[in-house]
Amino acid sequence: MFKANGSNVKYGSNICADYLNNLGEYILITHKEPWDLIKADVSNQPKLIVEAKELSKKYLDDLAHDVPGVHVVGLGGGSAMDTAKWVHWRRDLPLTLIPSIPSVDACFTRMSALREQGGVIYDGDAIPDLVLVDFELFRSAPTSMVTSGIGDVLACHTAWFDWQFAHQQGKDEFGWTPEDPQISHRYLAELADCAPGVKAQTDDGLRRLMELHRDIGWRCHEMKHARFEEGSEHFFAYTFEEVTGRTIAHGELVTLGVLLMSKFQGNNFEDVQEIVKNAGTRHRLEDLKVSVQEFLASVRRTQSFSIEQNHWFSYAQTIDFSKVSDEAILECVNW
Ligand SMILES: [Zn+2]
Repeated sequence: MFKANGSNVKYGSNICADYLNNLGEYILITHKEPWDLIKADVSNQPKLIVEAKELSKKYLDDLAHDVPGVHVVGLGGGSAMDTAKWVHWRRDLPLTLIPSIPSVDACFTRMSALREQGGVIYDGDAIPDLVLVDFELFRSAPTSMVTSGIGDVLACHTAWFDWQFAHQQGKDEFGWTPEDPQISHRYLAELADCAPGVKAQTDDGLRRLMELHRDIGWRCHEMKHARFEEGSEHFFAYTFEEVTGRTIAHGELVTLGVLLMSKFQGNNFEDVQEIVKNAGTRHRLEDLKVSVQEFLASVRRTQSFSIEQNHWFSYAQTIDFSKVSDEAILECVNW
């Protein structure tokens, strides 16, 4: 049985409105959709509602300066979590995070992902009083926003392999040890086990997916780096964003990266495929509205981009996809 470490968390169905009604004074940082779902049941209305939109440091600092000094509640996706975490940390106010989709682990990581000059930087140190996970909110979201939630867990499969590879090549800056891969195997075994529940959106499947995110968030803080969950699959994802000038849902983009890289790392591609299939995560280019051309161009640019960007050493820097046929690349995702 998988046991997670990390933030104080509470799970349940339809628990969100009740919680807010008993919270006392609070401000709400949110998006329109999740708030519309629950606001009719919230009698204790927030003192202030802030729409999460911008993630520049200047905007967030101004916001933190202006809000009343009461409990901060973040309700929504990644940007609502990151905004609420920043306001809480800057003002030293109590914090509750209520994720409305299981797509990213922003509710379980301590730093906020800020957008500065087109790039992402991580800063801050948020410790929420509580992370409240309401399964009904997840089930109200579009299906693909739920099933994409496996991406950043799946990433541990390829990222650990990269880390081990870097160690073998004498290019490991974080001190990989032979015990470490077991952690990635434990994550993957648990994910394989709960994947059908993620697809069916059962309480059990959703809770176990969030427990994986919780443990990964905790581990990032413990280890002081994310080498174990960020490797060639993410470097492919960043390259895709660079090449196409756009992005798609992070979890789905990373899933494409894991399928591709696990195959060319020689790292249990079939196991990954099985998890993706069982979780119902979208992976066919057509379903993701990614053109074959965009995908191939991104895959073939990954090696040079990763070297230029000075990413951590990984298979992304050693696999020369210009020597691989279109068919061999495409069959990783179009099955
Ligand atoms: Zn990620």
